[in-house]
Amino acid sequence: MVDPVLKSRQAPYDTEAFIGELKQRYAHQPMFVQAVEEFLETIIPFVNAHPKYLGKGLLERMVEPDRIIRFRISWLDSQGRVRVNRGYRVQFNNAIGPYKGGLRFHPGLSEDVVKFLAFEQVFKNSLTTLPMGGAKGGADIDPKELNDIDIMLFCQAYMNELFHYVGPDFDVPAGDIGVSQREIGYLYGQYKKLTHLHVGVLTGKGMEFGGSMIRPEATGYGCVYFAKEVLAYHRMELKGKRCLVSGAGNVALHTAEKLIEEGALVVSVSDSKGTAYMPNGMRMEELQWLKRHKFDRKCSLEEFAERYGFIYLEGEQPWGIKADYAFPCATQHEINAHTAKMMVRNGVRLVVEGANMPVTLDASKVFQQSGVIYVPGKASNAGGVAISGLEMTQNSMRMSWTREEVDGYLRKIMKRIHERCVEFGVDKDGRVDYVKGANIGGFIKVADAMLAQGVI
Ligand code: NDP
Repeated sequence: MVDPVLKSRQAPYDTEAFIGELKQRYAHQPMFVQAVEEFLETIIPFVNAHPKYLGKGLLERMVEPDRIIRFRISWLDSQGRVRVNRGYRVQFNNAIGPYKGGLRFHPGLSEDVVKFLAFEQVFKNSLTTLPMGGAKGGADIDPKELNDIDIMLFCQAYMNELFHYVGPDFDVPAGDIGVSQREIGYLYGQYKKLTHLHVGVLTGKGMEFGGSMIRPEATGYGCVYFAKEVLAYHRMELKGKRCLVSGAGNVALHTAEKLIEEGALVVSVSDSKGTAYMPNGMRMEELQWLKRHKFDRKCSLEEFAERYGFIYLEGEQPWGIKADYAFPCATQHEINAHTAKMMVRNGVRLVVEGANMPVTLDASKVFQQSGVIYVPGKASNAGGVAISGLEMTQNSMRMSWTREEVDGYLRKIMKRIHERCVEFGVDKDGRVDYVKGANIGGFIKVADAMLAQGVI
């Protein structure tokens, strides 16, 4: 006779009950709940159809982080003032490799945001096919308010605590919003000072001390390589198409750069203050000027628009502009259901996420129900972490590959991720559900590794 307790444990998951319980437990963490809900809606039917994943508490374990590290950062700024910030590192899952994921310095950073980013990272990293677990971290600081000396002092204070929890074979952070090569350099310097080790404990480093070619460009370029795969699969064109890009940071400007290189018309870039609208598209030399000045924090988008005779939309997002394709590359929840409906009316037929979760769950449903091809960041923005993975490889081998070699790997990896999305996301009518494809494609490797390693 089958043990009734065992039998009940092997029963299929009930999507509504599982998500309901999660929503209750984490009512104070809506971003995390959205990320998990979007995942489970496609994963539970898959798991229920594959009994090897049942009866082992797999999903219950998968939605809980291995650990959440929270710490105080007390530091003295260049004016001699005592400052206090909150630091985080969420190590979510290391079933397939060392924890890997960026650090974000942003005043609005909360445990909720870090947790959702770390959860997404687990499956994104799995999709790259490289051996990397998922993590994310950061601090609630606004780097835009700090001068260069204060940035260095803050990074040193942050690493004084973080170094206890990271290591080249354990947890390897990288950059994200507010953390670029400059911050990674200061963080790396302090790690080296504290440990006496010159190892690949961070990625996104400068080329002089172990960085990889193409790492700064990788997320944006990868996003466009992915979009090209999607378009080729659906027999659609990129050349000459009007593309909305939001953001004016690392991901946005490299997405714009590759789009222009591919002959698309980039009609917008934006930041937290407004949007620069280029009705006939932006030329490469205009983008290069913006890259130089924006990355050095020396110009605003308003100045950029004024310099080249573009239209500046103060306090506005780009989503009201007529376009063919959209690349949200700024931050989470940039597009809600209302905005999504407006974009559909304006003719947008493809949305490729460069940022993490820029589209709310309701908005993603608007796109899917309207026949807009919607690609979640888990798949399309995985190029950055993929090249971070290759930076780790190069560091371990104590060698560096050429720009062409790394770009070649990036193209191959994005193509492979697309194939995986098609494999698990194609519907009866031949359309690809990229949410389903990316979720299942990312899930399988993590799930199989967790099963093989037992209940730990
Ligand atoms: P950056 O800090 O380089 O740029 C962020 C951009 O987004 C800035 O232009 C910023 O404007 C804008 N922005 C930030 N918050 C808001 C807001 N609330 N409203 C409007 N605009 C806003 O960050 P990244 O380019 O590195 O990251 C962008 C997104 O891509 C994030 O979601 C990140 O998690 C994701 N991502 C990044 C990867 C990477 O390799 N860097 C890898 C994968 C995903 P302002 O300067 O005015 O604040």
